[in-house]
Amino acid sequence: MNIAAVEKTNLETGLRHALAANQFVLHYQPQLDIERNKTVGVEALVRWAHPELGLLQPAQFIPLAEDTGLIVPIGEWVIKTACSQVRAWQDAGLSSLRLAVNLSAAHFRDPGFVAIVKRILLETQLDPSFLQLEVTENLLIQDTERTMTTLKALKDIGIQLALDDFGTGYSCLGYLKHLPVNTLKIDRSFVNNVTTHPEDAALAKAIIAMAQSLRLRVSVEGVETEGQLAFFADQHCEEIQGYHFSRPLPEEECAKFLQQSRPPRAYGRIAAEHTM
Ligand code: C2E
Ligand code: MG
Ligand code: MG
Ligand code: MG
Repeated sequence: MNIAAVEKTNLETGLRHALAANQFVLHYQPQLDIERNKTVGVEALVRWAHPELGLLQPAQFIPLAEDTGLIVPIGEWVIKTACSQVRAWQDAGLSSLRLAVNLSAAHFRDPGFVAIVKRILLETQLDPSFLQLEVTENLLIQDTERTMTTLKALKDIGIQLALDDFGTGYSCLGYLKHLPVNTLKIDRSFVNNVTTHPEDAALAKAIIAMAQSLRLRVSVEGVETEGQLAFFADQHCEEIQGYHFSRPLPEEECAKFLQQSRPPRAYGRIAAEHTM
């Protein structure tokens, strides 16, 4: 075996033990509603605290987790941990905070997936309408019928669905009208050059116009500058996520970020509880 193959085997062995060893960590990135100037949600993003290699980013282990099928139990852990965290933040006063979680195609091949999500919502007591599951266009290449059935079942529970990385994958637009999604997340690759390259600005505007005419909520990811923010605000995009507002944050730092944007009425609620 060459060195890369040995490393891959080592990583795979490690990945098999990582769940039991409690080595996964979630970071949360705030999602802001720019009209209301308020954090309306957080996206849970997984990291692997590898005992020798340090904190690994999703790109370093998610593909392997997908190839080995380990993404199914990892995903279940992510949904459960994040739902329980967001329910705790809601209980602490952020009563309408929404949670976004990323799914992989493997979850749609697992016939028990919808039941697992239902069970987690019940156990963590998170209202389904506060959970948004993110899927990518690539999901629709394989087994479209089963994928559609699962998406509809998730929607019937009251869960919100978002199409992630929009514009980078399967590019047949016809499927959009059949998809039970609420939100379209415009990929970062359309955002990077929006203020410097007129072609990129034209593409971004076209995607936004299409989404809006289909009555989809538009969320933009990877907004890093004030100029990019102004561009998307001009186009009436509802939500922005990106380093300009915040990087993905560890749990405690995210709690502090959310605390700062907490509306004053939350204090009223705490005061009322004290007088009871
Ligand atoms: P994604 O779902 O599209 O998540 C957005 C990625 O963009 C995150 O990278 C985030 O850190 C990064 N990002 C956000 N704002 C900015 C910005 O302003 N500038 C730049 N340069 N980057 C920004 P991350 O955390 O490395 O995640 C990468 C991908 O890994 C995610 O893309 C998602 O597809 C996948 N992923 C992460 N967590 C999970 C998970 O729990 N399950 C599954 N199945 N996939 C996951
Ligand atoms: Mg990253
Ligand atoms: Mg995502
Ligand atoms: Mg994305």
